[in-house]
Amino acid sequence: MKLIGTGWKSPSLIDVHNKVTFTLWLCGCNLKCPFCHNWKIAEKIGCGELDINRLLDELDSASLLIDYLHVTGGEPLLQWEPLLELFKTSYENYNVENSLNTNFTLTIPLKKHLDSGYVHHVATDLKVPPNEMYGVENWKALWESYLKSLSLMKEYDIPLELRIPVSRFPWEEKKPYIDQALKALGDANFYVIINPLLNYPVVNPRNKEWCDKHCSPQKEELNIIKDYLESQGIKVYLKGHSELI
Ligand code: SF4
Repeated sequence: MKLIGTGWKSPSLIDVHNKVTFTLWLCGCNLKCPFCHNWKIAEKIGCGELDINRLLDELDSASLLIDYLHVTGGEPLLQWEPLLELFKTSYENYNVENSLNTNFTLTIPLKKHLDSGYVHHVATDLKVPPNEMYGVENWKALWESYLKSLSLMKEYDIPLELRIPVSRFPWEEKKPYIDQALKALGDANFYVIINPLLNYPVVNPRNKEWCDKHCSPQKEELNIIKDYLESQGIKVYLKGHSELI
């Protein structure tokens, strides 16, 4: 199994809501989100072939302390085949459940992972409005794929952590896309994390100028989204950066 990444951290208490994880970062991404603070990983800077034996040794040692092997990036599904092998090994050999953080634009590889039975938790960002947040020309096609992936989640009883990175774009520009996403999700098993986009120097975004304009939303902007979702009976958690907004 050959995986290109930057490394791993264990234990981590901040990558999945209320869970302890062994978190692994894989390289490469098909989006260019201007707020991305993992853009070096997305651009494959500082990446290399991972030492899988060492990774598995450390996973074995951590197995009793963690809830998940959590794989993030970048976009992990760009390496979906070896990643699936890793998930199979972690679950079958070390009894560790797996969590996948993906941008949900690669629906076919996502389905292969969900069908495998080796993915036990999924996380994705709901980036709204996508025309501003994806950072690529073909955002419409990617948004369609994103909706298909959300819709797919209805077929599996796998918990989905839907993270909303909140920017300062007006609510009227975000709401139609949030509505489309909720319609696609239907009765899927999901909860929402509201995550205010932070700016330099707290994080190191890909495009600082963009972030000067659109990051660091006001608390009221977070509450509008929270209230809207809660009014529909959705479980919502606000990520704890209140001192920074
Ligand atoms: S935020 Fe995620 S999806 Fe966007 S460029 Fe960064 S790694 Fe890729």
